[in-house]
Amino acid sequence: MGSTERIRQVALRVAKWVRAGHRMVVVPSAMSGETNRLLALAQELSPQALTPAYYRELDMLAATGEQVSSALLAIALQALGLQSVSYAGWQVPIRTDSAYTKARIESIDDARLRADLDAGKVVIVTGFQGLDEGGNVTTLGRGGSDTSAVAVAAAMKADECLIYTDVDGVYTTDPRVVPEARRLHTLSFEEMLEMASLGSKVLQIRSVEFAGKYKVRLRVLSSFTPWDIDIDEEANSGTLITFEEDHTMEQAIVSGIAFNRDESKISVLGVPDKPGIAYQILGPVADANVEVDMIIQNISKEGKADFSFTVHRNDHPKTMELLRNQVVPKLGAMDVIGDTKICKVSIVGIGMRSHAGVARKMFQALSEEGINIQMISTSEIKTSVVLDEKYLELAVRALHKAFGLEAEPA
Ligand code: ASP
Ligand code: MG
Repeated sequence: MGSTERIRQVALRVAKWVRAGHRMVVVPSAMSGETNRLLALAQELSPQALTPAYYRELDMLAATGEQVSSALLAIALQALGLQSVSYAGWQVPIRTDSAYTKARIESIDDARLRADLDAGKVVIVTGFQGLDEGGNVTTLGRGGSDTSAVAVAAAMKADECLIYTDVDGVYTTDPRVVPEARRLHTLSFEEMLEMASLGSKVLQIRSVEFAGKYKVRLRVLSSFTPWDIDIDEEANSGTLITFEEDHTMEQAIVSGIAFNRDESKISVLGVPDKPGIAYQILGPVADANVEVDMIIQNISKEGKADFSFTVHRNDHPKTMELLRNQVVPKLGAMDVIGDTKICKVSIVGIGMRSHAGVARKMFQALSEEGINIQMISTSEIKTSVVLDEKYLELAVRALHKAFGLEAEPA
């Protein structure tokens, strides 16, 4: 919502749903650019205050953005002749833990919301914010209004949670890389989690986890379609993220190709091959709060092994230093080498559970393009490979084609 005119359009859209007989709870996020603007103000005054007291005030500040849009939306709805009431997180209340700037929702009291719905009102619940045990305002992390909406939908046992966003759904891969990428009509929560954590930044990941856990059907759709399109058309637009047992689920084996340019690879070479090595290498890495993604160990000649893993690129320098200074000398390893010019490409699909030969097809497609695979990892619904980053586009295009993702599944 970038302007009062946009807010009016949202109100008209909501009114359309209400007039079609739906009881609506709406969770607005801030007007566009507003959260960044607010956080920049804090930064101007205190560029490096990292105390809990500072984070408390950041939340107090950032939470105002959503409150403005909530009140304005209620006003816009009233102007259309509907009854509407807005609530801040603390008024509902939406209870969270006390982790300022990344709080987690613990409970939502739905009593007030239900009473208002029963009274025929459109209820507006302010997104992104909550209240901790000590009565402090908290926020849920960037993009957190998605999670607010899902949590409210779960508490209200809503039929569906519609998330209007600036994309019109979830695609088989990034259309900037593969122009033939296709919007998915449906996707399972598990697939969406794999797609999201691998870089399809459509929704806050936590909202998808929440929706999966509390069984909320989630639809991602565009906020840019005109408000007055046919309601049935709107109700079937975008991408429905839902449960596997939902029989409308598309039957493709691979649903999408995800990729990630944020990782880097680290190899500890010539490690004595004996028990406890993984622990001695990765223990200190974990202690330094560095998350490790893929791991492989190769047994090489003469009782020595090479041990490789990937970490986020931001953690690369720190991890290299730690290994070089502490781990390599202690283990009597030969060397540690790092490579930040890698990427990770994954095929994702629940159909992989029941179909053999999917990974083989992936490796074949990459091999036909002459792309060398540096690491491989698999899970039930995903196979990922680490490649030289210069092959990213080529690999994603080749895989998209190999799995026929440009065409609707039969
Ligand atoms: N306004 C918050 C943000 O920009 C929350 C949201 O938009 O979902 O991160
Ligand atoms: Mg958002």
